[in-house]
Amino acid sequence: MLLQLRFYGDPVLRKKTEPVESITDEIRQIAKDLIETMYEEEGVGLAAPQVGISKRLFAIDTSTSRKEGKVLVNPEIVSRQGQVVMEEGCLSFPGIYGKIERSEKIRLRGKTVDGEDFDQELDGLSARAVLHELDHLEGVLFVDHMTPSQKIVLQSKLKKLAKQTKKQLGKL
Ligand code: ZN
Repeated sequence: MLLQLRFYGDPVLRKKTEPVESITDEIRQIAKDLIETMYEEEGVGLAAPQVGISKRLFAIDTSTSRKEGKVLVNPEIVSRQGQVVMEEGCLSFPGIYGKIERSEKIRLRGKTVDGEDFDQELDGLSARAVLHELDHLEGVLFVDHMTPSQKIVLQSKLKKLAKQTKKQLGKL
């Protein structure tokens, strides 16, 4: 089932998520829907709060085949190395992009939605996407990492988006 994306200005994006206690049928369904929605929206990652679910899991697929989507539950960074700047966007911020500095390499631990342990070193786009999605689980958004001058440039776009989101939420 496709889920409704939440946009900047929606309070759910600022909430710290709750850990997943156990992988139930409900969690498996959310995982399936996250992957489906991520592909539909052509994202490389999608965190649960971005569809209004304040739980600690996200979908990710940085492959070119778009067939390697997985969902990680209660993910945690074990270590990080280096710093690198890359352009980023976010499905919750349509049309807004910016260069963001993040760790270059990370080691990530968690569980897959099948209950298997996940422990991998990631770099490049995978590390970048995971760090971006992890931020979502803490209520942190990519614009929070921008420099003051980047924020000034985007200020009016961001205000407009937040206003539009609040208007839509008011109609629900
Ligand atoms: Zn995002």
